[in-house]
Formats: sequence, C-alpha cells, structure tokens
Amino acid sequence: MNHDTTPIAAIATPPGRGGIGVVRISGKNLAPVMEAVCGTSALQPRHATYLPFRHADGSAIDQGLAIYFKAPHSYTGEDVLELHGHGGPVVMQMLLARCLEAGRDIDLRLAEPGEFTQRAFLNDKLDLAQAEAVADLIEASTEAAAKSASASLTGAFSRAIHGLVEKVIHLRMLVEATLDFPEEEIDFLEKSDARGQLERIRADLEQVFAEASQGALLREGLNVVLAGQPNVGKSSLLNALAGAEIAIVTPIAGTTRDKVSETIQIEGIPLNIVDTAGIREAGDEVERIGIERTWGEVFRADVIVHLLDAGRGPTRADEDITQRFPPNVPVLRVWNKIDLSGHKPAVDRAAEATHIYLSATERAGIDLLRAELLRVAGWQQTAESRFIARERHLVALKAAREHLAFAAEHAMAGGQTSDQALDLFAEELRIAQERLSSITGEFTPDDLLGVIFSRFCIGK
Ligand code: GDP
Ligand code: ZN
Repeated sequence: MNHDTTPIAAIATPPGRGGIGVVRISGKNLAPVMEAVCGTSALQPRHATYLPFRHADGSAIDQGLAIYFKAPHSYTGEDVLELHGHGGPVVMQMLLARCLEAGRDIDLRLAEPGEFTQRAFLNDKLDLAQAEAVADLIEASTEAAAKSASASLTGAFSRAIHGLVEKVIHLRMLVEATLDFPEEEIDFLEKSDARGQLERIRADLEQVFAEASQGALLREGLNVVLAGQPNVGKSSLLNALAGAEIAIVTPIAGTTRDKVSETIQIEGIPLNIVDTAGIREAGDEVERIGIERTWGEVFRADVIVHLLDAGRGPTRADEDITQRFPPNVPVLRVWNKIDLSGHKPAVDRAAEATHIYLSATERAGIDLLRAELLRVAGWQQTAESRFIARERHLVALKAAREHLAFAAEHAMAGGQTSDQALDLFAEELRIAQERLSSITGEFTPDDLLGVIFSRFCIGK
C-alpha cells in the first residue's frame, strides 16, 4: 500500500441527529483550514477552544469546540483537527464542505472508510490486530464482545502473539547459530533443549488458539436454524429462547411467510436464530419460494435444531427433512411438548445426534437447549481474559501450528541432527513466525490491508 499522506476529512459521528457531531481532519499542514474555518491557526494542541466555525463570507456555520492534535500525538499519528459542532446532518455537511473548500490548496479530500485507522496502523499507532479491534468494538453486538474487543484494542491479543513470535525467534537464532558453526552441531538439539523449547511454544500456541477461537465466536456468533414440521412449536421455541434473555439485540421480521429471525445472546455469544417456515411440500408458487429460502438458511447454519413432537414421534416428513440436512452441520433433535407426552426435561447424547426433551410453552428444559447450543459451538466458560479474534487470525494460527508440527518432525529425525534436518527445522520455524506476524500486520500483503480497512465505517 503506498503510504498516501494527502490530508483527509470526514464526518466521524454517525449520520442522523445527535447532541454533537464531529468533523475530523488528518494530515500535514492543516493551518490553512484552521485559519479559514476557526479564524486562527494557533490552536494550542489538545486544548478545546470554543469558537465559531465560519463560511468564507465570515458568517457562522455553527459554534463549537476545535481541538488540534499535533503529530505524532494523535489517533492517526498525523496532525489532526477535530471540529465538534451540533450533530445535525445539514450543519455537519456544511461544515465538512467548508473544510474541503478551505483545504483545497493542501489537497484536502474526503476520507475512505477506515482511512483514519489505516493511517494509525501505517504510522505504528496500532498494529493490525488492534486496528481490527477498533472495528470490532464499534460493531460489537453483545457486552461480552465489546469487552473482548476492548481487550484486543489495548493489545491483549497482540501481546500473546508477540510472546509466541519472540520464542520462535529465539529458537531460530539458536538453530541458525548452530548451522553457522558446524563443529558444534553434534547433538545440538539435545544440548540446547531445542525440542523442549519447541514443545513449549506449541503448547503456548494451543492456549492462544483456544482463546482466539472463543474470541472469534464472540465476534461471529452462531447461526442457528429451527427446522421442523408445521405446529411442532418452532415459533414458541424461538420465543422461549428469546424470552429467557432480557437482552434481545435485534429482532428482524423476515420476508418470507412465517420466517422470523432473532438475535439473542447466551453468555454474551450472539446467536442468530432463524425460525424457518414449516418445511413441507410446496402448495403454491409463493410457498415454493419460501421453502427454497428456508433451505438456503439451513445450508448456512452452524447448528440445526430439528424440532419434533415428543408425543407423536418422527413422521415420514421428518425423515425426509433429515435426509436433506447438510452432512457437516451438527443437528440437535429437540422433542417438544413434553408436557403432553409425559417425558422429563433431559439431554440424551446419542451417536447420530443429541436429543433434547423440553416444552417450549411450559419453559421446561430450555436451559438444557441453551447449554447444548453453547457446547456444540465449542464455548468454554473458563477462559477469563478473552480477546476478540477473527477468522483471519484463526487461519494464521492454524498455519503456524502446522509448520511448528513440521518443525517437530524434523527435530525428531534421529538423535544425530543432520545439516539438512536442521535446515528444514529452521525453515519451518521461519514460516511459522511469518504466519504469526501476519496477525499483527508485519508481512501483511497490501491487498489484504485494503480489504480489512474498507470494511470500516466512514470517519473511523
Ligand atoms: P410452529 O408452526 O412450528 O411455529 O408451531 P407454533 O410455535 O406456532 O406452535 C403450534 C402450536 O403448538 C401452538 O398452539 C402452541 O401453543 C403449541 N405448542 C408449542 N409448544 C408447546 C408445548 O411445549 N406444549 C404444548 N402443550 N403446546 C405447545
Ligand atoms: Zn411458526
């Protein structure tokens, strides 16, 4: 990514009306804009000055606070000017337009989404994992996700990665030194405890991976599909699951008939639960389309909850549905209406699927289902200092894990270490290090950076 240092401007507060709105400008030589809009270019850094923001003809656009941050002591690491005015869409647009006009001579332009944070990254104010945490914090849909994003933002995840990288570097240095002095090579691996070091690194990585997986779960949540015949109680179960949580995040009414999805949280994990319209033979065209969409949801599911009537047992139609479930998605078979059938609330982990007995309307056994959903998702309640993580991070950690395993194989090759085995050992360590470092943004390809920052909102 060529490091573009053209000054940029954007409205940093969300569109709509609010108490205040902020226009943010970042770049070099912001004095002309300050002079023109604020009437002074001598704002004291990090001090809020109350003043009118002016049009070119001297009339006031708004009155508010101007705050100047001198490089490198700013969010982006560049000079930053923040104008805090009243948060109305029209007044904010006028203020932004005025800044762009006043900044014509310094080539001031509109910022791309995430460009402020991208500059913070390029100027080493944040590493990549921290920059991603900024977006994750803004997008967090549960308190737990926000908490872990905040932990990542302050560097919890980055420190864990750095810890691993440093240990890998230390081991690499040992190996490289040995390769440089072949006479000392005789059983280098024994003397330096290289195998022991490697095993400890691998154990540490497992720990980080486990925590990152939890963090990714907090961020991505879980897609749960409620499938089953009409009248088995899907809508009732959705209500029961949602009702058990006070914090319903976003209820979204679906577009197809009787399809409703609701995001609830269980222990801070967002669960997007889709109540599919009863899957059955299509009666008419509209219904056929609805049913096709339903199957689309089923294929995107992380977990399928197949609801059945405990009093009736599975029907032919249920068998047909089961046949069509995607093979790799875990299925929970939930037997509903146990108040009518006389079963007790229970979980039965059978070979082909887990069976849960409950009553949606009596709210009996709902906790069992909630716990089972978390279990299927791989959630562990134990880990305390959770940080947020993304699929990208998990992929990098898995690759590092794999190359450390290769390294271990080379280290196991005989008691005497051949030159070649040592070479391969060193090479695997190097690759593992590179993959780990991609998490914090060293050795990260430009196009990937582009993708990451383009998903930010404007003004961030
Ligand atoms: P859906 O078509 O699968 O969404 O099923 P609904 O949730 O609309 O429920 C169909 C009927 O079954 C309604 O009359 C519900 O009150 C009833 N029902 C749902 N769950 C239970 C239950 O646990 N016990 C009893 N007795 N009735 C239930
Ligand atoms: Zn329903």
